[in-house]
Amino acid sequence: EAKAPSNFIRQIIDRDLAEGKNDGRVVTRFPPEPNGYLHIGHAKSICLNFGIADSYGGACHLRFDDTNPEKEEDQYIRSIQRDVEWLGFEWAGPVRFASGYFDQLHDFALQLIDKGLAYVDTQSPEKIAEMRGNFTTPGQNSPHRDRSVEENRALFARMRAGEFDEGEAVLRARIDMQSPNLNLRDPILYRIRKKAHHQTGDKWVIYPMYDFTHPLSDALEGITHSLCTLEFEDHRPLYDWLIDNVDVPARPRQYEFSRLNLNFTVTSKRRLKLLVDEGHVDGWDDPRMPTLSGLRRRGYTPAAIRNFCEALGVSRADSVIDMSVLEEAVRDDLNQHAPRAFCVLNPLKLVIENWPEGHEETLVAPVHPQDEAMGSREMPLTREVYIDREDFREEANKKYKRLVLGDRVRLRYGYVVRAESVVRDDAGEIVEIRCSYDPDTLGKNPENDEGQGKLRGVIHWVSAGRGVPCEVRLYDRLFQVANPAKVAEGESFLDHLNPESLRVLSGCVVEPGAAGAVAETRFQFEREGYFSVDRDSTAARPVFNRTAGLRESWPR
Ligand code: ATP
Ligand code: MG
Ligand code: MG
Repeated sequence: EAKAPSNFIRQIIDRDLAEGKNDGRVVTRFPPEPNGYLHIGHAKSICLNFGIADSYGGACHLRFDDTNPEKEEDQYIRSIQRDVEWLGFEWAGPVRFASGYFDQLHDFALQLIDKGLAYVDTQSPEKIAEMRGNFTTPGQNSPHRDRSVEENRALFARMRAGEFDEGEAVLRARIDMQSPNLNLRDPILYRIRKKAHHQTGDKWVIYPMYDFTHPLSDALEGITHSLCTLEFEDHRPLYDWLIDNVDVPARPRQYEFSRLNLNFTVTSKRRLKLLVDEGHVDGWDDPRMPTLSGLRRRGYTPAAIRNFCEALGVSRADSVIDMSVLEEAVRDDLNQHAPRAFCVLNPLKLVIENWPEGHEETLVAPVHPQDEAMGSREMPLTREVYIDREDFREEANKKYKRLVLGDRVRLRYGYVVRAESVVRDDAGEIVEIRCSYDPDTLGKNPENDEGQGKLRGVIHWVSAGRGVPCEVRLYDRLFQVANPAKVAEGESFLDHLNPESLRVLSGCVVEPGAAGAVAETRFQFEREGYFSVDRDSTAARPVFNRTAGLRESWPR
């Protein structure tokens, strides 16, 4: 396996190992909140955390950060596990839940109360927010800040017993209301939520805050390097304060790296959920979504996504990655590994007049022209075939490397044909091309070529009788603007949806060998692009999603 390129986090780990820290252990974690499906941004964090564990012989835990019963759901828990596995990673030990530590976290809260480092505040949420101040105004101490340990114990017990309503009381850390860091101005540790939790049911009506839960869960699990995105940098002093003031079995450290931002899409679960809930897309796994399940349905491979993340590297510099970089990653992978097939997206019938009626030949083509090991495929050629409408013109100059009336092309892997005449419908539209073929041109150039000029080109085709009618879904970018999340006053990111992000072609024809492929089989349809079998597909009615064109083509 190729060695992963170094980055500042790996350098920190190398140094820690050299100094003998953590008894030589490297333990990371990937900590999603189960409030949505994973997106491409999460892939960066997954590749980083699991990649580090893999290359240092360490462990990476999968831990659901499930402290908010309101927004969390079981379907998210299942999809997240599936996505991590699909990317090719294995978590160490069982799936973990922050909610699995609620008892211990409660004990830790009591420790803080007993040390005079936490107190119950019974002011209104508005008052607490107001007294917290902001970047320019210092905070003010709560009148409840100096309650006795006994009083705090009693009030916290009553909070837990359900004697207060939501918003009537919180437990706060007692740190420093004058701190320039707002996160240290007596942050809330516990709040009341009278909601059942997907893991703990009705056991709790108080729930610990993320900032309290995360460092202490890390410590309980023996995480050595807790890697998170830069927006948590200002939370690190609180992380360390908790580790310092609670009696925990180990000392994890937090390191921050920059988020992955991609243009022409949104990577926030809140916005993605809105797209789903309002029906702008066909669910979380709509192939236009930047979710891992959407990318998967679109035809992305785990390798493409991992290579993409690896190539991005890990740093503390914020940047926006161009969507074309992601698309190039899947092209690279599929170009190497996807079997080839013929699919005619916009069929026009071509009749070979000198081909005997009822005669059929089986032509042999490579599955991959650059990879013999992938074997060969068989394609029936019959008197009537389909070619793409784009591949025929009545007249054209020399630059047009396709079929022109009176001129010749090769049917790829087959014979040379010449367009002799066209048949039109009542409206004057061409509905058929009448051709002749040269039987002596299979795998070789035509003889007696004088006066005919060079062959114009080679085009793909599918037997009319043997090809299988199919549907092809052409996807485009979901948003028309590079930064849909940046909206003017009174606008919504939804105003920037691309109305042409999905175009369905229902009258396509695919070569029979590709028709029965199971969902998620990927192909390069020669001369068209990369396509993946959709889960709506059946053998009788295949459905293909376009993953990417053969080359970059934005803007169109
Ligand atoms: P969102 O804003 O979409 O809700 P989140 O950060 O709240 O994202 P979590 O489920 O908490 O989502 O994320 C799990 C892990 O993935 C966190 O460690 C988080 O830092 C990381 N992560 C989330 N988005 C990105 C991103 N765009 N780039 C890199 N890492 C990310
Ligand atoms: Mg989060
Ligand atoms: Mg979030």
